[in-house]
Amino acid sequence: MKRPFLLALACALLLTGCTGPAQPTHTPTSDPTAESTTFAMDTVMTFRLYGGTEEDLTAVTSRILSLEQDLSVTLEDSQVYALNHSGGEPVTAGEDFLALLALAKELGNRTGGALDVTMYPVVKAWGFTTSEYHIPDEDTLSALLANVDYTSVTVEGDQVTLPAKMELDLGAIAKGYAGEMAANLLRERGVTSAILNLGGNVQTVGSKADGSPWRIGVQDPQQTTGGYLGVLEIRDQAMVTSGGYERYFEEDGVRYWHIMDPHTGAPARSGLVSVTIVGDKGGLCDGLSTSLFVLGREKALDYWRTYGGFEAILIDDQNNIWVTGGLKNNFTLVADSPYTLNIVEE
Ligand code: AMP
Ligand code: MG
Repeated sequence: MKRPFLLALACALLLTGCTGPAQPTHTPTSDPTAESTTFAMDTVMTFRLYGGTEEDLTAVTSRILSLEQDLSVTLEDSQVYALNHSGGEPVTAGEDFLALLALAKELGNRTGGALDVTMYPVVKAWGFTTSEYHIPDEDTLSALLANVDYTSVTVEGDQVTLPAKMELDLGAIAKGYAGEMAANLLRERGVTSAILNLGGNVQTVGSKADGSPWRIGVQDPQQTTGGYLGVLEIRDQAMVTSGGYERYFEEDGVRYWHIMDPHTGAPARSGLVSVTIVGDKGGLCDGLSTSLFVLGREKALDYWRTYGGFEAILIDDQNNIWVTGGLKNNFTLVADSPYTLNIVEE
């Protein structure tokens, strides 16, 4: 090998070997230094950086838009679209798609299929993708359910295969994952204080400038307290909620919501009306919020005891709130709440 080449190689190794933040750490500020509102992934997202710059904001926004571009079920050049129109042939998936498929599979396995990313045809049949709502008949549902099975999705290296009649949608986990990736990017860029709201999924980076935690309202699913039922304090974590009140229609006095039980093909009737998950990984929190809603309180708490790694606020249709032990000092009910607070210990 020639000397100049060795020198160049040594330089390249030195450069790539550098693992510290790409930019100097920004000092956190008490007022936002950069903020924006973006419509992406079918929802309104607000990003607020306390100490970051417009460039940091642009980097985050383009990361989110490229995730949407790869993972959207409706954009015709996305990887998910390609898979859904592959006729059973293998499709090449990028890193994010592969990571989400692995997460979906793990959660599907751990929840006995309560999370099933191949539910899309059923979700469509109820009209949740178009807002043209209607209750499908039993025959239609059982025909559709015959092609719902996340275990039929196979991954070999970066090649993903989905049987021809099936359709996959990452809507139950993608927003939380997007928040997680955005937070990672900001941390790498030296931002130490930020709050990202991805359509109600809240992702925080660090804490407020004075070191105190972020205070985030937990939505009242029955709106009896006119908005928030309580406040949660978190630092550097994600808080993701799945609620029956978020998207629904009513017929003959019955409410039908967008969170479905893959075993019945109908809106999940577990007794829970809202599930909030708090944890370090937004993608996991998002997947859990949906699947623990489907499982119901007892199985959700069994899951928490078995696997841990997150905390939860479960709200049932009898005005009970169940808060897991790790949050007992971080969650406060609003004054004169009609809800009964229960702390769940291990
Ligand atoms: P989330 O708001 O995160 O709870 O996700 C709900 C969305 O995920 C719905 O709008 C559906 O598109 C999809 N979905 C509903 N039920 C399920 C389920 N059991 N497993 C996977 N995806 C689901
Ligand atoms: Mg979810």
